[in-house]
Amino acid sequence: MAASAERRRILIGGEWMSPASAALLPVVDPSTGEVYGSVPDCDAADVDAAVRAARAAFDDGPWPRCSPAERVAALAPLAGVYESGVDELAAIVTAEMGSPITFSRMAQAAAPSMMVRTFLDLAAAHPWEERRPTAFGGTSVVRRLPVGVVAAITPWNVPQVVVVAKVLPALLAGCTVVLKPAPETPVDAYWFTELLLGLGLPPGVVNLVPGGPDTGRALVEHPGVDKVAFTGSTSAGREIASSCAPRFVRMSLELGGKSAAIVLDDADPERTAAGLRFASFLNSGQACAAQTRVLVPRSRREEFVGALAAAVASLRIGDPQDPDTEVGPLVSEVQRDRVAEWIEVGLAEGARPVVGGPGRPEDLDRGWYVRPTLFDRVDNAMRVAREEVFGPVVCVIDYDDVEDAVAIAEDSEYGLAGSVWTADRERGLAVAGRIRAGTLGVNHYGADFGSPFGGFKASGLGREYGPEGLDAFVEFQSISLLG
Ligand code: NAD
Repeated sequence: MAASAERRRILIGGEWMSPASAALLPVVDPSTGEVYGSVPDCDAADVDAAVRAARAAFDDGPWPRCSPAERVAALAPLAGVYESGVDELAAIVTAEMGSPITFSRMAQAAAPSMMVRTFLDLAAAHPWEERRPTAFGGTSVVRRLPVGVVAAITPWNVPQVVVVAKVLPALLAGCTVVLKPAPETPVDAYWFTELLLGLGLPPGVVNLVPGGPDTGRALVEHPGVDKVAFTGSTSAGREIASSCAPRFVRMSLELGGKSAAIVLDDADPERTAAGLRFASFLNSGQACAAQTRVLVPRSRREEFVGALAAAVASLRIGDPQDPDTEVGPLVSEVQRDRVAEWIEVGLAEGARPVVGGPGRPEDLDRGWYVRPTLFDRVDNAMRVAREEVFGPVVCVIDYDDVEDAVAIAEDSEYGLAGSVWTADRERGLAVAGRIRAGTLGVNHYGADFGSPFGGFKASGLGREYGPEGLDAFVEFQSISLLG
């Protein structure tokens, strides 16, 4: 059973307080369109109170002054309580944003639980302070100091993964945090914040201000923030970058993608199609790293398109609460309308829908559904191949040879992810290495929490996950000793 979605308080300075803002954000079930709860929609006064609390906890509180080992010890009990709550968390995320429950259990709940353990282990072994011999015979002490007050601003598509990837490493590094989750998915952020509060962290170390883009803007512009850790659209990322840059506010930006899956001519069509059925359509296509441009060799195009079409046509669309469902509704009416519009754009540009197309799936007369759509005969110059759709819409693009495939993959403003599908792993590795993107897979796509994740080009700045994800929340300081 999902937790209550009725909340009237926000977390500031270790207390659940009534917000200054009287406005509320509805929490909507995307599979029915029904409102089943609401949370505060925080205004600039709430943001100010939260940042002041985080600032005081950073400037005068014990948390940044604890040793890294003390912080790991204080946060270690999170792993067990998080793990015991994964079923509840999966139900919350499915109710908030419509991700199919089987996917939610794995990717929206078990995965962030694994991430908690990974970060705790990494922080225990991290070189927070190193001593290096200097060229002039002395010693350099290299310290990783907490960057300060962190504004964590997160999207709705993998809400917990993104919240944990920011809040936990920030805390382990000694920062204090103001979290603003996406307006569509506040409930799982409350769930996580409550777990953290239960650990008895010092007041003001974690603060929660639910709200929409205006709440986010107030947070980004607040002079008490030292670092903005943002995941979301490239357009919002641009706005945040231009606000932070003149003030030298640190930022990490995890933005959009339009990832290419290069299918080499030695790949097995059925195995490749089975892999892409997941890697391209996961989370109902609402994944930044979804493999949305499938590049197939012209010499074998009919085989690959046939196998992909059969795989996509077999996706089970329906109620996200049904464990057999593989594609659920999109998060909101706005998102459904956007994706429906992209399907029309593809058609108007001359792409051929081999599966799906406009309209609702049969038998689903309510909720924000679209038909999973596989477009064939796509040219990489088409808008549907260039812009992020963020729904279950995938383009097949033909190529002549590997040079051509790499050129098409690279012809994108984005550089978040990609994959290569082949019978020869080493050949796959060589081709993957030519793509300027942050994470790539050979014969699958999957990010690993122990390794850095993030984007080249318009897909962002900085890295999350792995030791690099801890370093995202530090300032380096060198003290050189002589004598
Ligand atoms: P969005 O940019 O609309 O919103 C993301 C968050 O930022 C929300 O909390 C929103 O309220 C807030 N926000 C929006 N505009 C803001 C502004 N100008 N200043 C401050 N805060 C602002 O994105 P979304 O629709 O919630 O999420 C989908 C997008 O996120 C997609 O583009 C997807 O590719 C991207 N994403 C990227 C990654 C990654 O790791 N690279 C992961 C998940 C999602």
